[in-house]
This record gives sequence, structure tokens and C-alpha cells, in this order.
Amino acid sequence: MKALQNKIITEGIVLSDQVLKVDSFLNHQVDPELMLGIGQTFAALYADMGVTKVLTLESSGIAPAIMTALILKVPLIFARKQKSLTLKDNLYVETVYSFTKQQQNEITISKKFLSANEKVLIIDDFLAYGEAAVGMARIVESAGAEVAGIGIVIEKSFQNGANKLKEAGYRVDSLARIMSLSAGKIEFLEE
Ligand code: 5GP
Repeated sequence: MKALQNKIITEGIVLSDQVLKVDSFLNHQVDPELMLGIGQTFAALYADMGVTKVLTLESSGIAPAIMTALILKVPLIFARKQKSLTLKDNLYVETVYSFTKQQQNEITISKKFLSANEKVLIIDDFLAYGEAAVGMARIVESAGAEVAGIGIVIEKSFQNGANKLKEAGYRVDSLARIMSLSAGKIEFLEE
């Protein structure tokens, strides 16, 4: 997606050869027009797939995911991150290692919002090692529901998340694919 690539080039900050900061349009301040374009792109890719719900992880996945859900005319659920849980009875729970926080989080979804007949499109802001996406996919499957695919705003293709998800049989659609962040420079993987 060209507009996204341009935004990453002009506003992205390379924090290290592993981490990109995009807090001016996605992770802190949010660019609504760009999010709408992202939502339209994901919605077009999944238009005929019978998606019944969009699922993301709080908080940075919510902006692109709500636009996608709006256009697909389906509800959005965001999984919540919690450190420790007391009552798990009515929740689906998965443990996910957080790339940015370097800690284990439990992610949860209330059982009342996910049932066996759903077809779920998972959306996330970044894909690094695939932990967050795998955690969400496991929750969908533990509800007996189906993963329609995984839509990623920014994939860091030099980390192994995309390969891992594809090898596990998931469809992955990434709107920007970064080949390298070495030497402070953002290089995209062109199709
Ligand atoms: P994964 O679970 O695929 O290893 O990492 C993806 C999650 O970590 C995303 O939900 C995102 O919040 C965060 N993340 C991973 N890499 C980056 C990065 O380079 N920049 C930012 N801002 N977040 C990242």
C-alpha cells in the first residue's frame, strides 16, 4: 500500500535494527484517513470470504481493525491484555510473549463474543515473531471458530512471524513489508 509506505518513510523512526516507531500515525497519534485506507484495503481483500467478526489486540490494533470492521459491516472484538487473572470461567485465555514489552501477557476474550460459527479476520499493527497473531488464532480455534486470515499493517519480514503463520496454514496479508531496518534505513520488500 503506497500511502502507508510513504508515511512509514517520512514519519517512521528506526529505534534499532529490530524496532520501528510509528507513533505519529498508528501507535500513539492516529491518522484517521490512513486508517480508513487500510480498512478499505483489508475489507477488499476479504470481501467474499464470509467474515463475521474482526479480531485484534488492544490497543494499537484497534484503529486499523475498526475501519476494516466498519467496511465489512461486522463487529470488532479486541482481545484484552491482562497480567494476572482471577476469574477465567467465561474467558478464552492465551499466553503471549510481548515483543515490545519483553514480558508474558495473558490475552483474553469473553466467551460471549466468540462462537463456533464465526469466521474471523485477525488484524494487528505489527508482525514480528507472530506471537500475538498465533495467540489470537488459538483463541478463535478454541472457540471452534475459523480464522479467515491475518491482516497486518506493518510486517517486519526479516523476523520469522510471517513464515511461521504461513507454515501453520494461515493466509497472511501485510500492507507494508519491511525487509531491513539496518543502519537506520527502512527498506521495503517489493513484490
Ligand atoms: P509479534 O507478536 O509478532 O512478535 O509482535 C507483534 C506485536 O508486537 C504487535 O502487536 C506490536 O504491538 C508489537 N511490535 C512488534 N514489533 C514492533 C515494532 O517494530 N514497532 C512497534 N511499534 N511495535 C511492534
